[in-house]
Amino acid sequence: MKYSRIAEAYEKIEATTKRLEMTDYLVELLNESRTDLIEKIVYLTQGKLYPDFVGIEIGIAEKLALRAVAKASGYSEKAIEKDLQKTGDLGETTQKFMNKKAQSTFFSTPLTVQRVYETLDKIANSTGSGSVDLKLSLLAGLLSDANPSEAKYIVRTVTGSLRLGIADMTVLDGLAIAFGGGKETRIQLERAYNISSDLGRVAKVVANQGLEGIEKFKVMPGEPIRPMLAERLSSSEDILEKLGGKCIAEYKYDGERVQAHKMGDKVVLFSRRLENITEQYPDGVEYIRNHVKAKEAIIEAEAVAVDAQTGEMKPFQELMHRRRKYGIQQAMQEHPITLFVFEVLYVDGNDLTYEPYPIRHEQLKHVIDETKHIQVAQSIVATNPEQLEQFFEKTVEGGSEGIMCKSTNDDSVYQAGARGWLWIKYKRDYRTEMTDTVDLVVVGALHGRGKRAGTYGTFLLAAYNPDEDIFETVTKVGTGFTDADLQKLPELLNKHRISHKHSRVNSMLDMDVWFEPSVVIEIRGAEMTLSPVHTCAMNVIREDSGVAIRFPRFTGKYRIDKAAEDATTTEEVIEMYRSQLKKIDG
Ligand code: ATP
Repeated sequence: MKYSRIAEAYEKIEATTKRLEMTDYLVELLNESRTDLIEKIVYLTQGKLYPDFVGIEIGIAEKLALRAVAKASGYSEKAIEKDLQKTGDLGETTQKFMNKKAQSTFFSTPLTVQRVYETLDKIANSTGSGSVDLKLSLLAGLLSDANPSEAKYIVRTVTGSLRLGIADMTVLDGLAIAFGGGKETRIQLERAYNISSDLGRVAKVVANQGLEGIEKFKVMPGEPIRPMLAERLSSSEDILEKLGGKCIAEYKYDGERVQAHKMGDKVVLFSRRLENITEQYPDGVEYIRNHVKAKEAIIEAEAVAVDAQTGEMKPFQELMHRRRKYGIQQAMQEHPITLFVFEVLYVDGNDLTYEPYPIRHEQLKHVIDETKHIQVAQSIVATNPEQLEQFFEKTVEGGSEGIMCKSTNDDSVYQAGARGWLWIKYKRDYRTEMTDTVDLVVVGALHGRGKRAGTYGTFLLAAYNPDEDIFETVTKVGTGFTDADLQKLPELLNKHRISHKHSRVNSMLDMDVWFEPSVVIEIRGAEMTLSPVHTCAMNVIREDSGVAIRFPRFTGKYRIDKAAEDATTTEEVIEMYRSQLKKIDG
């Protein structure tokens, strides 16, 4: 097939915004092409040469492409650059200059799809010294033989700006109509795509073997499966009702989703977006290689950063240390991970994605040889809301984001690439509504400005921690004070003013003025939140976070009946935070 046929289809597709018309043009193109070319055509229409997970990009910088256009058209780089500034699209500029050239010369050998694909592939695969020159001459060679429209699309393809707007679903529609027997067969093709993430392979199979081939489509180690996703609900009752009165509830770990493919000694890791992230987790690779008891397997896990000393879970952000090319060995030592495995999709020739979850869950327990660094996600079987609620609270205390509730019904297959009600997440939000008031100790203040000049503007408040006999900050308050209050407070407080932070006050914040803990005032807040800057309940709910009160307001009550040690305690603050978690909208 000539590449000009593809360019012609692109022109038509670009001229419409209607998805149905787009699909029609695509179907025409697919119908006309030889079946052995379908795979390549599908990749090309998406501006690619391979499925994303292979990680090969054509990636030519605009500057280099411009040089190739100059070489092929015979015009100067300057002239082309000037026009590019006007059009903002190197494709369009290329077409213009190739048009001028075409008027003065004849173009030679017509381009075939095969040649374009192979040349682009060579360009994509040339690396190392001399590769820039090689890329330049390969591209210029192609452009020299291209007509103006072809040249436009080649340039857009190599610079990653093809953008025809043909989404995956449009390609699947096109394939269903062209080879599946009708649009309604898309659903089968979609399933094949979801378990392979490879539109080209789906296209090749359906073009060569029809739907029969698609029905035999199986998951394959090495090809990432598009991830199953969860819906959300915010109460245990609703979740159990939705799941038919029973579910397997699991810890919802806060890390990075990893899909691990074990193929003998070789292990490949894919991210949630199906990028190959094997290099980032050499330790993860080892855990899979040595502790997944199968020759071949596909499993899913959450990689969670853990404390090197204590083994405690750390927040997701800690994994950022792994996002680098160099120094991974050091990052591995300083920021170790544990893999919490929650799915098994394939074991030694068996595609498990059609099995209901209880069966996959059993398999999971068999196939993982648990160690400190690779564990099956903690779970319970829940049949009543109280059980679920208790588990939820326990997990939140343990540093999890909440729980994942999974269907145990017969239809609880692995729904690749879909968000559905077979998985329901019940998440802790970090904020919750506060209804009760608290009595807090004034431990510091900032000078007032403007209307409040000469008095205090903001007060730092603390709860009492009787275990350690210290005062831990929970909020700063500046609202709810009348003018009379603002006069009265210095009177009350200045007796206790000291030149430095009091030794029994634990604060990470800096204040203009410090007080000996003694004055207690009543506060109502709008919500409670986790905070890295307040010291109350630090590390209790979550590593490196305390609990804070947001939008606090003075109620007008001075608790002169209370000594500082009678203030609301840290324990009470934690209790309030937890009890109100139940009301959150996850
Ligand atoms: P989504 O992935 O649903 O689009 P998101 O990216 O905001 O949303 P979350 O809402 O936090 O993620 O929830 C889904 C993610 O939770 C999964 O993709 C997975 O990475 C993670 N996760 C942690 N523990 C589990 C578990 N036990 N089972 C399934 N997923 C889990």
